[in-house]
Amino acid sequence: MSILIENCAVLDPAATWGVSTGRYILIEGDTITSITPERPARTVDRVIDGQWLFAIPGLINAHTHSPENFTRATSERLPLEPWLAHLFGMSGSFSKRDHYLTAMVGVIEMLRTGCTAVLDHLSMPPRPSLEAMDGAMEAYRDSGIRAGVAPLIRDAFYDVEYGHRRGHRTLDTFYAGMNQNMPSIPDMMAMMDAFFEKWHCKAGGRLRCWVGPSGVQWASVDFLHACLDTARKHGGGVHMHLLESRVQDWTMRQMHGKTAVALLADEKLLGPDVSLPHSVWLTDKDVQRIADAGAVPVHNPSANLKLGSGLSPIRKMLDAGITPALGADGAQSSDHQVIFGMIHLAALIHNLSFLEPEKWLSAREVVRMATEGGAAALMLPERLGKLAPGYLADITLLDLRSPHLTPFNDAYDHLAFTEPGSSTHTVIVNGQIVLDDGVITTFDEAAILAEVREVTKGRPHRQPIPEHVRFAMERFMAYHQDIVHNTRFEQD
Ligand SMILES: [Zn+2]
Repeated sequence: MSILIENCAVLDPAATWGVSTGRYILIEGDTITSITPERPARTVDRVIDGQWLFAIPGLINAHTHSPENFTRATSERLPLEPWLAHLFGMSGSFSKRDHYLTAMVGVIEMLRTGCTAVLDHLSMPPRPSLEAMDGAMEAYRDSGIRAGVAPLIRDAFYDVEYGHRRGHRTLDTFYAGMNQNMPSIPDMMAMMDAFFEKWHCKAGGRLRCWVGPSGVQWASVDFLHACLDTARKHGGGVHMHLLESRVQDWTMRQMHGKTAVALLADEKLLGPDVSLPHSVWLTDKDVQRIADAGAVPVHNPSANLKLGSGLSPIRKMLDAGITPALGADGAQSSDHQVIFGMIHLAALIHNLSFLEPEKWLSAREVVRMATEGGAAALMLPERLGKLAPGYLADITLLDLRSPHLTPFNDAYDHLAFTEPGSSTHTVIVNGQIVLDDGVITTFDEAAILAEVREVTKGRPHRQPIPEHVRFAMERFMAYHQDIVHNTRFEQD
């Protein structure tokens, strides 16, 4: 399949106002083969009239949890620890079809708002299974979006244990039952092997596998080594939450006598194949450790604000030569999966951290996070995140007749500050048109949404909160409050 986008505007970091006009983008197979001011002399299968279209690299959602698309808009005013108790207590079990449908809801939201790739840290209530992984992967296969799936696994609950030791009775909750529910490390790694063998680099390279340990506070060092060894054996990576909350930082320092990042660095568990959502509670040395290892932090501004977790030190990361990625996080903590919304937040919230405006994040820096940073998280740094010959053809075409882009001034300022995603006109992933002038071409969007409405009617998250869940939420709220009020975050 070959596609020519003719006479369009193209995001161009070297151009005045960040845009070149009158360009011809030629796509052959899955790759951009040329971007020229003249029409290429060859026939193509499909011509897209670009007179009113503005081509940007497809945005990348480098961290989410697809099952939360079913439970969004069900909680507010909860910090991470009691919020997790709500999430675990109210989500219910997911069948293979549920996983398929909840992933599809996210896909629809993302494709319609210019996002072409997602890294899904796949939670699988009540326990990890290949069936659950297949459900999500089949959705991504059928939908045409580029996807990495990192099945979320753990072998410990250290923050829960340390809370209990501090007198918060956190193990008197339903977490005790969850603790007994996990497969052994060899069984989990065997499951990961089977997952990689079935899905890694399938669908023309569009689908990829990760290993997704939940977080350092929920993982033994042996388990983390097993995860990274298994991922590397298959040419994949590790995707793991890092220091989202103060409780997590406190737990790791109590346990290891050093920061979580110091532990990961000492154990040689960091590298360009390791992406780290949140990375909020980092010391200055931690930022340098991550930079030295080439690991990729993923900034999730919406979830960090909603759960009151804290602000990731993005300026320090950028100054250290890191390009962090950008993620929505699951829809129950960040509410939507619109990456333009995440760009907007990231471009604004760091202004409050510095009195010196030159330290604020620039529109260009934040757009780079959602494109080149995401490409690094997806382990495709030389092939994704830019519009250039040789790069994969993941392209979002925005409609310049949209009110958000009229009049059209600085392109990067529009992307960071004025565009909510609704100007998305056409989306191409891996050289395939998946959204064509506002219509999803790969599946029946209305039928999927109708089925979602039907299957979610009686789910637990729509019922009143039961007593055992409320009890757990109260215990974890008390634990969280104790740590944030009675301990101090310190450098190392
Ligand atoms: Zn997350």
